[in-house]
Amino acid sequence: MTIYLNGQYLPLEEAKVSVLDRGFIFGDGVYEVIPVYSRRAFRPVAHMQRLQHSLDGIRLANPLGMDEWTAIFERLIAGCDSEDQYLYLHITRGVAPRDHPFPVPPVTPTVFVMANPLGQPPASVFERGVAAITAPDYRWLRCDIKAISLLPNVLLRQMAVDADASETVLIRAESLTGDTPATEGGFLTEGSASNIFVVNNETLLAPPKDHLMLPGITYDVILEIAAANGIRCEIRKIPVAEVFAADELLLTSSTREVQAITHLDGKPIGSAVPGPMFKKIHPLYQAFKRNVMRAK
Ligand code: PMP
Repeated sequence: MTIYLNGQYLPLEEAKVSVLDRGFIFGDGVYEVIPVYSRRAFRPVAHMQRLQHSLDGIRLANPLGMDEWTAIFERLIAGCDSEDQYLYLHITRGVAPRDHPFPVPPVTPTVFVMANPLGQPPASVFERGVAAITAPDYRWLRCDIKAISLLPNVLLRQMAVDADASETVLIRAESLTGDTPATEGGFLTEGSASNIFVVNNETLLAPPKDHLMLPGITYDVILEIAAANGIRCEIRKIPVAEVFAADELLLTSSTREVQAITHLDGKPIGSAVPGPMFKKIHPLYQAFKRNVMRAK
């Protein structure tokens, strides 16, 4: 497998980064994941705008112009075996003696890009839905930045794995101290690696895109699909009680697309099977993907 690292195309095994890279030392960097269907990047402009937002959030200039990014994507996509893939972009503040402040003068950022095959989840995921657990959202207050420092997300996701579930739904305590038990107050932010929608009374509820969640590209697609198909939507703060009382829960991400959460903390959500909203939105999402690819 060939990857891109700092201006070079290299076999993965030969790609090396200094131990003094600020990504390694401080998690000082950002990343982006772009799905590729039929060898075409899906919503590349929105993904690159979000990357720019993340870079602005950590005060790092974009090291490459759009033409350079596009050339890298084209070469890596052509070199990957699979028709459906995802591009992984990773930028750090570069290599410098270990010291917290930004290096003066600035050093060259580290840029790493790879294309990986994107597998489809097993059919059972769409037929039966998935289980999730809840946990207090103890992350920082800039979750809108797609930062490579993912330790909280890793720990929160592992809680789901340990509970035989496939995602952790995060509940932010009103006080923001992070220690309120998930079931005793607070409001929905997102999943450990996905956005979460609540369905109640045939209405799709979504938390607002603010500093407490990652502005998902799939989240935007779902809201566009809902608007185009007469599905009622409300974007607002969602108290935890509404999450547990939901008729349906949906999770969305670029790699998982749309999935129904049918159990939360071991309790059934609605009738514990993918519900009517999922059954409406899932095919619309698949059609949307195919239409976008055809239109190109
Ligand atoms: N929130 C978090 C914390 C994520 O890691 C992700 C996906 N990586 C998402 C939401 C979903 O974003 P997108 O739809 O752009 O993949």
